[in-house]
Amino acid sequence: MKAEKFLGNFGRSESLWMYACARCGECVDVCPVYEETADEYTAPGFKIKKMRGLVGRKLGLPFSGGISEQGIKKIVKGLYECTLCGRCWSVCPYNYDLVSLWETARESAFETGFGLDSHVEMINAVKAENNIFNRPHARRKDWTKGLDVPVKEKADTVYFVGCLMSYRGQLKPAAKAMATIMNAAGENWTTLENEVCCGVPLKFSGGTKDLEELMEINISAIESIGARKIVFSCPGCLRMFRQEYSKALGKKVRMVHGIELIDSYIQSGRIKLKDKLAERMTYHDPCELSRLAGVIEEPRRIFNSVTSGFVELPGNKFNVVCCGGGGLYKAVDLDKSLGIAGKRIGQAEEINAAGLMTACPSCYMTLSQTARSKKSNVKVNDFAEVVAQQIE
Ligand code: SF4
Ligand code: SF4
Repeated sequence: MKAEKFLGNFGRSESLWMYACARCGECVDVCPVYEETADEYTAPGFKIKKMRGLVGRKLGLPFSGGISEQGIKKIVKGLYECTLCGRCWSVCPYNYDLVSLWETARESAFETGFGLDSHVEMINAVKAENNIFNRPHARRKDWTKGLDVPVKEKADTVYFVGCLMSYRGQLKPAAKAMATIMNAAGENWTTLENEVCCGVPLKFSGGTKDLEELMEINISAIESIGARKIVFSCPGCLRMFRQEYSKALGKKVRMVHGIELIDSYIQSGRIKLKDKLAERMTYHDPCELSRLAGVIEEPRRIFNSVTSGFVELPGNKFNVVCCGGGGLYKAVDLDKSLGIAGKRIGQAEEINAAGLMTACPSCYMTLSQTARSKKSNVKVNDFAEVVAQQIE
């Protein structure tokens, strides 16, 4: 019975930790999905309680329960109704790595046949065309049209563009802006001739069987270029590379987000900006960039150089509240995902921001879609577009 195998990938220490959870409920109080759904199966502490019963049975611990396939389906639904934003981890007094816990549990769900059909479709698209949208692989570099984008055999820096920036029409100007800024700074950079999906959507879905094959294509392309730096527009790709690619690429290859690179250009004088704008602008920290990757001060230095009207959103920096679009949640429940984004747009309206900047293609898509549907006056911008317009 497949239910017997669910959570079979949990090690003894993970299992015992779930028994150590103090059941304080701090994680429940800060979860944006639980706040939106009010469904106990989306509450992180409740999911742990349910999973604890299952692993406890395997370990022969007392007070552990059995569960039906129907019961497991409810837990799995809760595991996928999660943006993997890490807010639960940020308040856990035991500092337990809850994001890894959710990812490991999703992997088990997928392997035991409880994965989601929409995720299987996405994985098949990646297998067929190397991108999550099932668009032709040959069109991955369409965003470069009309722009001076080098393809070199050797370069210091590789710009890893990612599926969203490469294929989403709304985001192509942001990829172009990143290219324009690197050209203005005199960076010796290139793109990969044959870039493929970094694999983070597979990791988020739990369907990781084809991950290594995918990674090998990117790794061998980067190695042949001899790059010492990889720059990303997508925090998801960045974290994926830092977690899964670093071992193969070695310590000499630095992995940075575009916002870190641009901050270093401004600090060192490699690019000069025009006089500051007066526009009231705010910034939504992408969870994967701020809380999970520690990039917090760089965007603030940039935005304070771009405008004299920079103002903080409530729930920012390490404590950022998710936009609702992370962890493949949009594919699970679009209405609830956009409901979370609606609160973020509402906060930007409350502080009278004309512009809401972000540094993540997924946040950009979620927030801009919501701003449009709410007919909000807040304009959602990608950081690179704003900076590119201000270069002298
Ligand atoms: S990662 Fe975010 S959405 Fe998922 S359970 Fe934790 S707080 Fe909730
Ligand atoms: S915050 Fe940590 S200790 Fe408290 S209920 Fe959540 S997982 Fe358990």
